[in-house]
Amino acid sequence: MEKKLVDTFNRPHNYLRISLTDNCNFRCFYCMPEEDYDFTPASRLMQAHEIEAIAKIFVEQGVDKIRLTGGEPLVRKDAADIIMSLSKLPVNLTITTNGSRIHDYLDVLKEAGIRSLNISLDTLDRDKFLLVTRRDQFKQVYDNIQLLLQEGFHVKVNMVVMKGMNENEINDFVAWTKNDPVHVRFIEFMPFSGNRWTSNKVVTWQEILTEVGARYDILPLAGDPHDTAKKYIVPGHAGTFAVISTMSANFCGNCNRIRLTADGKIKNCLFSQQETNLLQPLRNGENILPLIHQNILAKAKELGGQFTTDFEKIHAETIHNRSMITIGG
Ligand code: SAM
Ligand code: SF4
Repeated sequence: MEKKLVDTFNRPHNYLRISLTDNCNFRCFYCMPEEDYDFTPASRLMQAHEIEAIAKIFVEQGVDKIRLTGGEPLVRKDAADIIMSLSKLPVNLTITTNGSRIHDYLDVLKEAGIRSLNISLDTLDRDKFLLVTRRDQFKQVYDNIQLLLQEGFHVKVNMVVMKGMNENEINDFVAWTKNDPVHVRFIEFMPFSGNRWTSNKVVTWQEILTEVGARYDILPLAGDPHDTAKKYIVPGHAGTFAVISTMSANFCGNCNRIRLTADGKIKNCLFSQQETNLLQPLRNGENILPLIHQNILAKAKELGGQFTTDFEKIHAETIHNRSMITIGG
């Protein structure tokens, strides 16, 4: 497929992340704004047929990978219909989910041909899980990960590492990879509107490697140029681990990602300030392709043009962005 969505830094964009909703059944403090938050009413969200129509336009422009995210994509009532309709497109379709509803969706995932999923789990401790998510669902999520592994899915586990919260569990997650073919991804804590981020809560890629290296021999694994994760294996382990070093060493140089928010706006970067509304023009019967091109051409070189990797100097309150739950991680 010809690559048509190229920005001014010559980066082709073939990976679309679609947020299905900003609603969620969890309340992770690092993702939701602190103040009371009203979820977007259904009428302002893209409807299933609108998601399909917009996705098709992106696919015609060279997108060959789509990730569904949110909020929690699987709380949306018509999630199964959306998954099935997008599975008919010539794309690698995948999902990022908090894992709480996987048991209800196993057949849909199989029918849609989804083979790989990202599940978020920040702790292996039930009480801490409750503290982070404000929901007592550790067992459900953990059991669902085991269910996916038994069913032969490729499972990546996203763990946001935060100082004073869960950094003491890094090696417990690596130990998990010994017998289970699970792929743990340690994510550096990122600043978003109202998420209590401070630079001293970030546990960096180097700190994570030092911690694991103190207990295990580790080998780096080769990745592809668009990987956001730096991958490693402990020789002899069934699974692997990786670090997503957004804060200490960004991977913007090869960025191929575009985001579509649940209310139908494109963001060309997780940290971009500008958004382009596609939903309203689509509803007005306008051609949205020029809007997509304009948005991609306005993409900043790195990190939405908002900060550098000198993250110690960042003051979270100066960053203009939505909260993560409203962007779609
Ligand atoms: N609800 C789904 C889930 O939890 O996987 C999908 C949406 S969630 C916003 C997507 C990913 O973003 C999750 O893995 C979550 O841990 C991550 N995330 C949210 N806020 C973050 C932050 N401040 N820093 C780093 N990662 C974050
Ligand atoms: Fe919900 Fe996922 Fe955000 Fe947690 S990280 S509040 S599960 S959207």
